[in-house]
Order: sequence, then C-alpha cells, then structure tokens
Amino acid sequence: MKEIARGKAKTLYEYDGDHYLIEFRDDITAFDSVKHDIVGDKGYYNAQISAKLFELLENNGVPTHYVKMLEPNKMLVKKVDIVPLEVIARNIATGSIVRNYPFKEGTVFERPIVMLDYKDDAYHDPLMNDDMILAMGLTTEEELAKIKEMALRVNDVLKNYFESVGILLPDFKIEIGRDGEGKLVVADEISPDSCRLWDMETKKSLDKDNYRFDKGDVLAAYKEVYRRMFGELPGE
Ligand code: 5GP
Repeated sequence: MKEIARGKAKTLYEYDGDHYLIEFRDDITAFDSVKHDIVGDKGYYNAQISAKLFELLENNGVPTHYVKMLEPNKMLVKKVDIVPLEVIARNIATGSIVRNYPFKEGTVFERPIVMLDYKDDAYHDPLMNDDMILAMGLTTEEELAKIKEMALRVNDVLKNYFESVGILLPDFKIEIGRDGEGKLVVADEISPDSCRLWDMETKKSLDKDNYRFDKGDVLAAYKEVYRRMFGELPGE
C-alpha cells in the first residue's frame, strides 16, 4: 500500500479509491516532538479506543470517517480532506487555558468552551478566531457554524459515556474532515493522546499528560481507560 503521510503517531496509507488505512504506531510525542518515545502496545490501545468511540458517535448520529478495524492497530476509514483546525472542547479548566488565561485549575465550566487552533506545528498551533479562519479560507461560514455545533455534540456524547465508566472528560481535541460529498465528519483519532481523561474519584490523569509532564506510567493509564471501556484487558 502506498504511504500517503507519516504523522507523529500514525501512518496513513492509500487503501483504494475511497478509503485510507490508518496505522496507529507506538510512537508518543509531546511539545511539537521535542519529546519522543516508543511505548509498547500504545498503538493497539489507541486504535481500539478510537474505534469504539467512533462507533459510539455514529450510534448517536454523529458522522465519522470510521469504517472498521482491519488489524488490531489498523483502521479503515473513508477518505476525507482534513480541515486544518484542532477543534477543542473544554469542560474543566486545565492545560493551556490555565497557562494562558486567568482560569483557575479545576474550574468546571457551566457551558463548554469550544476553541479552534490552527493545526500547524511551525506556528505552534495558535488559537484562531472566526474572522481569521474565514480570511484564510479554511472553512465557509456555514461549515464553521457546523464545526462548532459538532464539537458540542461530540462533547455531550463523549462526556456522558466516559462518566458512565467513572472517567471525567476535562477536554479533548478532534479533527474534522470533508468527505467526497463535502459533508463534515469527525476524523483522525479520539484517544488518550487527544483527550484529557481523569479518574472520577481520584482525579488522577489517565491520558497523555502522564507522558507530557512525567506524571506516571502512560501505558498503564491507557490500559486503565481500555479496561473501563471494554470491561477487561485483552487476554484476560
Ligand atoms: P491544551 O490546549 O490544554 O494543551 O489541550 C487541550 C486538549 O486538546 C487536550 O485534551 C489535548 O490532549 C488536546 N490537544 C491539543 N493540541 C493537541 C495536539 O496537537 N495533539 C493532540 N493529540 N492533542 C491535542
């Protein structure tokens, strides 16, 4: 299969005229790749977690690029053109919103905050506003409204689901793509690499912050998310 793109943690292959294959690798990076390591089996856990969350979204009426898993860490997806925005929704103040604005760590937002960053490491993914997005021609006005609506809908579905398995969802990032008909669908991945996930009781981080800030064993955290979502670990 022809390699189309090799990202920081995933490789994209041409599968056929309408589909790509995404390989979830064991690479983990942070701070625009200043930090980089290989974490055994991480690709498997992220692929399986993403697949289940894409299925959950589809079952709740949110279209995604997901088709099916072809191998434990290889996902078949519909071809889409990715909108170069990191679509972020926040329920609890943490991370960059606390570093860059006067929000107090742990504040629960009464209404979720949607933020759109320009996806480009060279510029360090700067926060955009509507006028900038339209001036750069990244979306139409109609698409921009729809993207914000999708972010809130995805947030509702994911937040309720994670709470049902004892996990808080402080924030997450999704990417949106345009399918062959120009319809907007959720793409990329939804995993502990791209979501903040905290144990509901202890508030302990179960996501990539373990790696970013050396808080703990990142693979053990991802396995715990998997165990809550699937009931047991593979092979148990
Ligand atoms: P923050 O802006 O606080 O660093 O991140 C907010 C949320 O978006 C977190 O859940 C974080 O994992 C996710 N996020 C932000 N930027 C990126 C990115 O470049 N890659 C990934 N995988 N997730 C990101």
